[in-house]
Amino acid sequence: MKILKTIAEMRAARAGVGELGLVPTMGYLHEGHLSLAARARAENPTVAASIFVNPTQFGPNEDLARYPRDLPRDLSLLEAAGVDLVFTPEPAEMYPAGFDTVIEVRGVTDGLEGAVRPGHFAGVATVVAKLFNIVQPTRAYFGQKDAQQSVVIRKMVRDLDLPVQVVVAPTVRESDGLALSSRNSYLTPEQRAQATVLYRALSSAKARFDAGERDAETLRHAMREALTGFTADYVSVADAETLQELDRLDGPAIASLAVRLGSTRLIDNLLLG
Ligand code: AMP
Repeated sequence: MKILKTIAEMRAARAGVGELGLVPTMGYLHEGHLSLAARARAENPTVAASIFVNPTQFGPNEDLARYPRDLPRDLSLLEAAGVDLVFTPEPAEMYPAGFDTVIEVRGVTDGLEGAVRPGHFAGVATVVAKLFNIVQPTRAYFGQKDAQQSVVIRKMVRDLDLPVQVVVAPTVRESDGLALSSRNSYLTPEQRAQATVLYRALSSAKARFDAGERDAETLRHAMREALTGFTADYVSVADAETLQELDRLDGPAIASLAVRLGSTRLIDNLLLG
């Protein structure tokens, strides 16, 4: 496995190979990330992962400084997953003095995470576009866990004609339903026990959907009931492509929510139909 710290090194390593799958991450890897690496490994002759805690996608009062990091552990997990190339640039390599360009995907970033985290998706879209230009992947792998992020990236790729296939893979969960997340490491044991409320709320909406309920507000209400006593930033049942809140479900939809447990903010979602 080759570890590349600079854009020039990454470009040189990429130049020598054909089809390539890229798994972009912020590190502190778990089975969710590794499922993306395994999928990329199965579908591409060469696999690259990036580890970069992207400062531009964090708001001023968010957790950039305390975001968990463990590069040696990440590298040994990626090596075991059969990854060939790991791109781990420093922030100054990605954002040198005088960096001034931002990619803004409109519309699908208005609600949900975009509404609560202004500027977040501009940071995500810009860094992912840079990673695509540097690594030039044939396919890029993202998790359904960050549903709005996947929609934003798909839209950017379509709108800007970027020559990459975006693959979105299912959310990997703990046995009690909690979606794996690097941020789960912030939770106290008590908060970790409470965190199952996200999946419980989503599952109650999904059960009603599976039983035939198609009124979106009824499904949102079921989630809010399950979240009684918790602080939710939003509870949503939206069109899976446009992310517009729905009245009635008559096509692919997504139930999603964001919940605060102390100073930790967790998100999750389930596809409906
Ligand atoms: P992050 O390191 O949190 O930026 O995540 C890197 C990639 O892993 C993103 O595409 C995430 O959507 C994906 N990911 C994070 N958690 C999970 C999970 N539990 N299951 C599947 N993919 C995930």
